[in-house]
Amino acid sequence: MDGRFFGQLQELLGDSPCLAGERMDSHVTFRTGGPADYYARPSIRQAGPVAELCRRHGIPVTVIGNGSNLLVGDRGVRGLVMEIGKGADEVTVDGDCVTAQAGALLSAVAHKAASCGLSGMEFASGIPGSVGGAAVMNAGAYGGEMRQVLESVRVLTPEGKERTLAAEELELGYRHSCIPKKGYLVLEARLRLHPGEKEEIGRRMAELRRMRNEKQPMEYPSAGSTFKRPEGHFAGKLIQDAGLRSYRVGDAQVSEKHCGFVINRGRATSAQILQLIRDVQDKVEREFGVRLEPEVKMIGEF
Ligand SMILES: Cc1cc2nc3c(=O)[nH]c(=O)nc-3n(C[C@H](O)[C@H](O)[C@H](O)COP(=O)(O)OP(=O)(O)OC[C@H]3O[C@@H](n4cnc5c(N)ncnc54)[C@H](O)[C@@H]3O)c2cc1C
Repeated sequence: MDGRFFGQLQELLGDSPCLAGERMDSHVTFRTGGPADYYARPSIRQAGPVAELCRRHGIPVTVIGNGSNLLVGDRGVRGLVMEIGKGADEVTVDGDCVTAQAGALLSAVAHKAASCGLSGMEFASGIPGSVGGAAVMNAGAYGGEMRQVLESVRVLTPEGKERTLAAEELELGYRHSCIPKKGYLVLEARLRLHPGEKEEIGRRMAELRRMRNEKQPMEYPSAGSTFKRPEGHFAGKLIQDAGLRSYRVGDAQVSEKHCGFVINRGRATSAQILQLIRDVQDKVEREFGVRLEPEVKMIGEF
């Protein structure tokens, strides 16, 4: 551990969480993964200075949100994991626009919008991600996606400059944006919604919650759909037709309830989850000639 760096980091962060050797399993929904050399959860105001400190010390930074689309290697993450979450999660409403700090949960944003009679975020109310992670992934469900509501994002560039980018500049596509490629850290997003009937918005969110609970294995840790939807197919159907329903590697398993989900039955390691992902890719490719691409992002050392 670099004591001088860590001391300066602690000083900068004050009361915000700042730890060395923090295990990542409690920060990701798969509940696996080894320790990060350093872990910090800054406020939005602190994020820039933390990034600058890391740059000065040559410490690599990995940004995470709610960890709901991540597989972290069992050997952990070198450098600093910066979580943009609690403490960076203010949401304000101004007319038809919602401005959310990147750490705000989509569920909180959707409920706040609903309470103000604003419609447009219903689709996202059950996605367990942060606004920053959702912008990066162009998260979507039930016919909605972030692209439809995102007006602009405020980002920190790799050089430490703040920029406001229109949604059109983010190359938003199916579970894709240019944010990781450009090395941007999302600080805030501005969403444009439209007036709606409060009760109707509430009804739609409840309906989507019911559908999610019915179809998805919510009782086990996972990262949602493990694979992207391949052109012209459904990943879950291909996996099922390849005879892989309930296929296991240790405690990692293809969900019996929804074959598109890999679940952690309790004691899975990231290595087991990764092996299972590769087995599924290979078998589906052999059977159907389609190579499934993981939607889940891998970070750290495996
Ligand atoms: C049960 C379950 C159901 C799910 N259902 C859906 C669904 O219906 N639709 C869907 O699209 N997804 C779904 N997901 C996946 C996941 O919730 C989304 O991809 C979500 O948008 C990820 O947000 P996050 O904050 O958890 O990001 P993380 O998983 O923490 O990170 C994802 C990526 O974003 C980057 N990132 C995160 N925050 C920032 C930031 N502030 N600045 C720069 N980069 C950042 C990370 O580096 C990483 O590359 C589901 C997951 C689970 C566990």
